[in-house]
Amino acid sequence: MSKNLVIFGPPGAGKGTQATRIQEKYGVRHLSTGDMLRAECSSGSPLGEMLKSILDAGQLVPDDVMIQLIGYVLDEPGCAEGFILDGFPRTLEQAKALDEMLVKAGKELDHVIVLGVDDDILVGRILARAAQSGDARSDDNEETLKKRLGVYNDQTTPILPYFEEKGLVRKIDGMASIDEVTAQINEVLGA
Ligand code: ADP
Repeated sequence: MSKNLVIFGPPGAGKGTQATRIQEKYGVRHLSTGDMLRAECSSGSPLGEMLKSILDAGQLVPDDVMIQLIGYVLDEPGCAEGFILDGFPRTLEQAKALDEMLVKAGKELDHVIVLGVDDDILVGRILARAAQSGDARSDDNEETLKKRLGVYNDQTTPILPYFEEKGLVRKIDGMASIDEVTAQINEVLGA
């Protein structure tokens, strides 16, 4: 049975780490919009240049661009076993567009996994990641990070009730250790 998932949470919540583990264990396709956008940025294309200025400012890429991007990848054969969306949807407009795309494709979401982490912990985690990593993301500095958290709280958190009404939200304590978070997710996914 395929599993169609969304992993949801603020910057630094550990979505990428957990989504990679879910991909390995369940064979679902990890679709990280941040990774896709960063790949386009480093290609040096005119679109990439435009995207880079948005990412570096900690702002959101326009909904129509994101919706088109996700539309392409959800249609790919690699998503037949299921997918885990990481970084999408981030606005109510994107959440509604996702619904429409899934209906057209004859698919349904199974779970929206929400990683809860307090803001003060997030800032520490991301700045530590930036300090340790050789290839630090250009948006992982304190100023941009505070903007990203603000955007998350203003534009992304408000879409949770939309998924709650559909009975899809599974809240996980994202402040537990990485393995404990994985264990909680596996419990939700029935493994
Ligand atoms: P994080 O969750 O750590 O903030 P991501 O890697 O998911 O980072 O995304 C990095 C940046 O890419 C975001 O700050 C935003 O500029 C852009 N982005 C990613 N996904 C979306 C989306 N669904 N809608 C708009 N912008 C997006």
